[in-house]
Amino acid sequence: MKLYNTLSKKIEEFVPKNAEQVKMYTCGPTVYHFAHIGNLRTYISEDVLQKGLEYLGYKVMRCMNITDVGHLTSDSDTGEDKMVKGARREGKTVYEIAEFYTNVFFEDLSKLNIKKPSIIEKASDHINTYIKIIDKLINDGYAYLSNGNVYFDISKIDDYYKLSGKNPAELLVGVRDDVFDDSAKKNPGDFVLWFTISKFENQVMKWDSPWGVGYPGWHIECSGIAYEMLGDYLDIHCGGVDNIFPHHTNEIAQSEAFLGHKWCNFWFHGAHLNDKNGKMAKSNNDFLTLTLLEEKGYDPLCYRYFCLNSHYRSQLVFSYEAMDIAKNSLNKLKNKISKLNKDGEIDKKSVQYYNSKFKEAFCNDINTSLMLTILYDVLKDNNINDATKYCIVTDMDKVFSLDLTNNKNSNNNISKELEQEILKKIEIRNIAKKNKDFITADSIRDYLLTLNIRLIDTKEGTTYEII
Ligand code: AMP
Ligand code: ZN
Repeated sequence: MKLYNTLSKKIEEFVPKNAEQVKMYTCGPTVYHFAHIGNLRTYISEDVLQKGLEYLGYKVMRCMNITDVGHLTSDSDTGEDKMVKGARREGKTVYEIAEFYTNVFFEDLSKLNIKKPSIIEKASDHINTYIKIIDKLINDGYAYLSNGNVYFDISKIDDYYKLSGKNPAELLVGVRDDVFDDSAKKNPGDFVLWFTISKFENQVMKWDSPWGVGYPGWHIECSGIAYEMLGDYLDIHCGGVDNIFPHHTNEIAQSEAFLGHKWCNFWFHGAHLNDKNGKMAKSNNDFLTLTLLEEKGYDPLCYRYFCLNSHYRSQLVFSYEAMDIAKNSLNKLKNKISKLNKDGEIDKKSVQYYNSKFKEAFCNDINTSLMLTILYDVLKDNNINDATKYCIVTDMDKVFSLDLTNNKNSNNNISKELEQEILKKIEIRNIAKKNKDFITADSIRDYLLTLNIRLIDTKEGTTYEII
């Protein structure tokens, strides 16, 4: 399989260390707020990666962390703990906030048919591992205690910038907004491994450590959990592009300093979802959630379909117009599949042919839009029978996870606005029919058909179905 590797900045053959099992680590959410649909785009891309690998025959051991402590409002160790901020916002404890948003996050994943990673670990459950790693890093000269915090000394690593390809000069104080002069640091780019003096009086989660009572920095959490749950090597590490620097850069520095060897061969990063004003972020409190899309009448799988239409490494701009197109296309697609006659002999050669085309598209750096085109080609193919088509579609849906053979989900939800519009149109049509104005009546029926709404005239009156 060929996959883009952020580390080499090339498309390369993906070869796991153990041919039987892929060890995959994915940075999980910081559970202080709802996930926005941008975050969810990254988890959809990672899900397609995992399911595609499984489709190729690999077993995937996937681990995800849940950040419930230590992620400050700036990724450069300034600001306050996001969890504390979330607790204050809602007048709850950090524990309540963590539990609530963790549950909502997994509900969102489930609505999007994203497979739950087999290993899910809370950052606050692995404090002893972080302490063990930090202790070794201090003893080996990679970390130092200064002004109450333990810092990682980035000057001890030759190729600290190897993942991001950044130029250290770009990162000097004053050049970037998120790098602040901290006189306790030896180098401006050094990052915190352990906060021994809680900078924030409201910090609730704190633990004893050899350096005093405190809490871990965000980056050490992923290195610690990956080490404890997956061992000394990873095959692939995933996240959104914003994680490349500083988060993943720092994970590599501390993990490789601790382990004494290369840690992870492949780095997979999903491009961002933007709205028309730019990057989607939680900081402005006005962000799109999956629940909001549902309230507006979009089945979550329409959003998954929308994401699958573009390449995971291309930025994607969200708009309701684009969602409407995705919704209509998915509905039409499912409708077509629901009409396939499942009885009949399956043409194994055709199954094999499309199966290998599908794999080829996946193996070409996960070309999901081509994979969808192949699915449409199957449905259009006049040389194969319905039963064969149905068999191929079912197989492909192991990766797409769009419930393609279940015609219920995406059809039943329509927005209140659309429902009102339909009812109004039915009323106008009834009046037109009464007046024998069949041109108007027919044009209303045809217009609604373009929205995938079919009118049904019964003795009791006119109803509608979503097709
Ligand atoms: P967070 O909960 O902020 O730690 O982010 C969870 C995941 O979402 C990380 O992998 C981020 O890299 C990713 N992410 C953040 N913003 C976006 C965005 N606008 N589009 C896609 N992925 C994002
Ligand atoms: Zn991480």
